Amino acid sequence: MSIDIPFSPPRMDQKIIDEVIDTLKSGWITTGPKTKLFEKRLTAYAGHKATLCTSSGSAGLELMLKWFGVGEGDEVIVPAYTYSATANVVVHSGAKPVMVDVNDDFNIAVDGIKKAITTRTKVIIPVDLAGFPCDYDAINALVNDASVAALFKPATAEQQELGRILVLADAAHSIGAHYKGRRSGNLTDISVFSFHAVKNMTTAEGGAVCLNLPDPFDNEQTYRDLCIKALHGQTKDALTKTQIGNWQYDVLEAGYKYNMTDIQASMGLVELERYDRDMLQRRKEIFDHYTKAFSAYPWAQLPAYETADKTSSYHVYLLRIHHIDEETRNRIMQSIFSRGVAVNVHFIPLPMLSYYKNKAYRIEDYPIAYDNFSREISLPVYYDLDEEKVKRVIKAVVGSVEENMS
Ligand SMILES: *Cc1c(COP(=O)(O)O)cnc(C)c1O
Repeated sequence: MSIDIPFSPPRMDQKIIDEVIDTLKSGWITTGPKTKLFEKRLTAYAGHKATLCTSSGSAGLELMLKWFGVGEGDEVIVPAYTYSATANVVVHSGAKPVMVDVNDDFNIAVDGIKKAITTRTKVIIPVDLAGFPCDYDAINALVNDASVAALFKPATAEQQELGRILVLADAAHSIGAHYKGRRSGNLTDISVFSFHAVKNMTTAEGGAVCLNLPDPFDNEQTYRDLCIKALHGQTKDALTKTQIGNWQYDVLEAGYKYNMTDIQASMGLVELERYDRDMLQRRKEIFDHYTKAFSAYPWAQLPAYETADKTSSYHVYLLRIHHIDEETRNRIMQSIFSRGVAVNVHFIPLPMLSYYKNKAYRIEDYPIAYDNFSREISLPVYYDLDEEKVKRVIKAVVGSVEENMS
């Protein structure tokens, strides 16, 4: 049998196609008016202070590590349970990723962060896994705690100005999620969204840096500085240079090439406009349907996605099966695939991947990450997954679990 329920195809309808064609015909296809408009709308949507759109979420994270002056000899705290991008960008910066185990809810454990902080710690990158926000009150309080701030050794102007560890949220999954009435993007110093093809909101590839820096930072000024840093350190962008008599420019630093194009932004503008009432609504219905169905089975461990303080963006449905090992999980997944349904695992913990394993990270040091991973199966969630298909997914999962557990 072939796969007839894919895992997460993008939602590409006529409205998006029309908007992309409009850009293609406009005579301006790289960073321009649509990217600037998308940035303004993202700022208004999430409620932070300024937005820089980037070529990817990874580029956004990497840019902000460079902006903060993170490098050789520094440490950056990341969860052991995440996609490799979270730690790879730290490696690119020259700093050392310091991994911390997670909670039962898949997010980084704050007591683990506390133990991992040293005089070399410059940044913490919490990840809102599957779209469920981390414990931001506790994380923000921790970096502001006088005894923790006293350990911080500022080495650049930005580090001096902040005077403590930077919280750089990897919000790749969590656009539209809420924590205590505020949206992801507005929960800590800086948050980075991803608009990769499999994410809730997609521009094929793309990302956004949400600036929410405290006083005395001028977030608008930081935005302007970042525009230059993300475009080869050039003092004028391509559009500005096309204006009459405006061809001259200077290069202030050896910057990066991380800008978003107006083709990408045109997709994002359509998706953002209808995101809450349409995309999030549909994803929530699918989550609720799965939860209602699986709560009838004692083997099913259901994910937390709505609590008193938090509402997920319903990015990935992380089903776990009680009392199974990794091999049984893998067999169950094969049975589900053989029923024509694509499933996935989010994620293989970083210490189990060759690059990090070879750097002497040991999965034994992250027992909750391993336990979560070994029993987890991610189910399809996407806009066009209709009720009939949701029922087929449930039937395939129930049949496959019962076949492999007896
Ligand atoms: C997708 C993802 C990223 C990277 O986003 P890109 O836009 O693909 O660069 C970072 N972190 C996590 C947890 C992700 O899932």
